Amino acid sequence: MNQTGTSASKDRAKVCSRLAPFGTTIFAEMSALALETKSVNLGQGFPEDPGPELLRQVAIEAIQEGDNQYPPGPGVPQLLEAVAAHQEAEYGLVYDPATEVLATAGATEAVAAAVLGLCEPGDEVLMLEPSYDSYGAVVAMAGAIRVPVRLSYDGDRWVLPAGALAAAATGRSRLLLLNSPHNPTGKVLSRAELEEVADVCRRHDLIAVTDEVYEHLVYDGRRHVPLATLEGMRERTVTVSSAGKSFSVTGWKVGWACASPELLAGVRAAKQFLTYVTPAPLQRAAAAGLRATHELVGPLVDELQSNRDLLAKGLAAVGFPVRAAEGTYFLTVDISEMTNEDAATFCRQLPHRCGVVAVPCSVFYADPAAGSHLVRFSFCKLRSSIEEAVERLGRLGAGGQW
Ligand code: PMP
Ligand code: GLN
Repeated sequence: MNQTGTSASKDRAKVCSRLAPFGTTIFAEMSALALETKSVNLGQGFPEDPGPELLRQVAIEAIQEGDNQYPPGPGVPQLLEAVAAHQEAEYGLVYDPATEVLATAGATEAVAAAVLGLCEPGDEVLMLEPSYDSYGAVVAMAGAIRVPVRLSYDGDRWVLPAGALAAAATGRSRLLLLNSPHNPTGKVLSRAELEEVADVCRRHDLIAVTDEVYEHLVYDGRRHVPLATLEGMRERTVTVSSAGKSFSVTGWKVGWACASPELLAGVRAAKQFLTYVTPAPLQRAAAAGLRATHELVGPLVDELQSNRDLLAKGLAAVGFPVRAAEGTYFLTVDISEMTNEDAATFCRQLPHRCGVVAVPCSVFYADPAAGSHLVRFSFCKLRSSIEEAVERLGRLGAGGQW
């Protein structure tokens, strides 16, 4: 779907029919292109700094102390306790660390295990669209059916159209996969939108799986609201998050799921046969991060917000209509007024034209044509990288080369 030419046919040669349509992830393709063309990589969302000293120290110490064998299946107790304490302190959500928290190999595995462990083949899974690329793939792995519900815009703001989710739910709907703050749009669902989501879940007896990896990365004084805090939602929600974004350690893949013991049993049933466990030293370090959340996240949010502003201003100055990013690492622009190219062609050409990598939003849609006018830029990079990218894009724009 998101690949071309010989590498596509090679990748697909022996891939089963459920996965063949998904090809190679756009992130791998675009990061490789960034290296090859020595471009500024505003594609894949990963920070360029080495991560907090505190987390690195705890991980090193844990390794040196010899904590290098399989940890307990549900997770290292320090992490399970730190997750439970974090949910209570931040949101007033109380979970028993022994029975209601599960450590996973990143949020990706938690989402995958929830879908695999809680859906029957043929069940419908509702998700906002555009949606993070692993969602469609894992729904296909489960033999379930993806039901996208499109976000649209109102001026420069992304919105969930009123009634769209309710209209998409049927008697076969089993699960709703929600991501807020939302990748790739940067949208944070409003209270009213969350109320509507909760209402649809309650009326159709849906399980909600909420991917909250950007929970702390919200701007302009916003506060993240987990769906599980809404009336009647805790008991039907699997709340997922991870250390990657909150603590700038995207390569660690330490995540977690919180849910009632009944729902978590489904997640655990799949998770135990996916990775079984995730590395013990990194679980301990993520626990230390959670205990120092405010100290670590405050400066990060200030930095990301100012990067967002710099990038949004730079993109607007060269003529791109920029959609508001209320959270996450990302913002989106509409390229349709600047070029006749579709987003995938535009993003494959951009590094050659001016040394900047971005990601085409077409890969986040079940029908790629629906996102072919949208491009995502990451601002979780060094300020100097954003400045360089803005300058390069400006030079190209000045020459009218789009
Ligand atoms: N969900 C979303 C919405 C993401 O953007 C990402 C990107 N890292 C992930 C999940 C993956 O998280 P993890 O690395 O913890 O698996
Ligand atoms: N979440 C990151 C992004 O959206 C990438 C993660 C990945 O490479 N799968 O850019």
